[in-house]
Amino acid sequence: MLSNRQLFLNHLAQTSDAPLMLEMISAEGVYMTDTDGKKYIDLISGIGVSNVGHRHPRVVDAIRNQVDKHLHVMVYGEFVQSPQVKLAEALTQTLPDNMDSVYLVNSGSEAIEGAMKLAKRYTGKAKIIACKDAYHGSSHGALSLTGSEDFKQSYRPLLPGVSHMDFGNTESLDVIDEDTAAVVIETVQGEAGVRDADSDYWKEVEKKCKETGALLILDEIQCGFGRTGKLWAFEHYGIVPDVLVSAKGMGGGMPIGCFISSKEIMGVFTNNPVLGHISTFGGHPVSSAASLATLQAILEENLLDGIARKEQLFHDLLKHLMIKEVRSKGLMMAVEFESYDILKPIIDRAIELGVVTDWFLFNDRSMRIAPPLIITEEEIKKACKIIMQAIDDVSGR
Ligand code: PMP
Repeated sequence: MLSNRQLFLNHLAQTSDAPLMLEMISAEGVYMTDTDGKKYIDLISGIGVSNVGHRHPRVVDAIRNQVDKHLHVMVYGEFVQSPQVKLAEALTQTLPDNMDSVYLVNSGSEAIEGAMKLAKRYTGKAKIIACKDAYHGSSHGALSLTGSEDFKQSYRPLLPGVSHMDFGNTESLDVIDEDTAAVVIETVQGEAGVRDADSDYWKEVEKKCKETGALLILDEIQCGFGRTGKLWAFEHYGIVPDVLVSAKGMGGGMPIGCFISSKEIMGVFTNNPVLGHISTFGGHPVSSAASLATLQAILEENLLDGIARKEQLFHDLLKHLMIKEVRSKGLMMAVEFESYDILKPIIDRAIELGVVTDWFLFNDRSMRIAPPLIITEEEIKKACKIIMQAIDDVSGR
């Protein structure tokens, strides 16, 4: 009989020549356990997903309860489904008044696609501005927004009318003009290796969008849902988007995404044409129930309270001659080394020693650290000790 590893290579479409090939049989809290019973600290939360930890009891209960009631009953937007309604209400309660309408989808890319369509339809314009080094997803529209030529070049033609500006640079905002439907920006850039901008920049972005009538779409697929220490990353900067996009951590381990805007803006999907955006599984009841439980866990268990302290602890413990810089916004962190060739063996060694980290799509010399927000100080100390040992082992010091 073929092993799962062989079946993985034989029958699952591969996306790289060097997949990690770890095989987990269970995961709980910050730990994942492989088929040999070896435990790993998950320092990347399945890439920004398990913000409340793996199998958070509230999430598991919510899933169980919903499974006992019903699974899929109807496509998005027709039946009144209690898990969807409750989630949408709870999400809007965390947001400014203008964000009172939620469109639920299945993933980040899909949410970006919906948000782009919404902006085009609402403004009657077609031009979209995004940022260099941005990542917004892998579907055609989302890929068009992505700010890396490397990832796009083999898939042209992509969406016309998309231009890229420098993130964090007010001078670059001149590209936003009267023909612009939307400006799509990650509130904190993820795959660029954790880059943020100051409030002054954001105020200018907001102003420019208001002046030109472009909708400001904030992609918080990676940086939202508590990751940066606030529920929504835009709260750090004193601005309010026209459209907010979420996914990843939102589902507590289940697939779900959404874009949120005002009832007025969202209303355009109801006419010309009717059913302006359609999704069969958008806001699947089990995912919606899991998402509501995730949100409640973050808010009711005060998971955001300890984040600044935990962030500081990582900074205190990750000090080494080989480390060039540690950038962070809450528990969204990048530890920069000289090069990928130095970083990759450190990541591999850390995995051998029981800590899973990663690098970033557009910054392969930085180590990705984005643990479940529930990580304890003891677990941070343990994980950092292992990373430091991995650096020592690799650098021979
Ligand atoms: N936007 C950002 C900022 C992301 O980090 C991601 C996923 N890495 C996406 C969009 C796409 O999300 P998904 O993989 O769920 O389609």
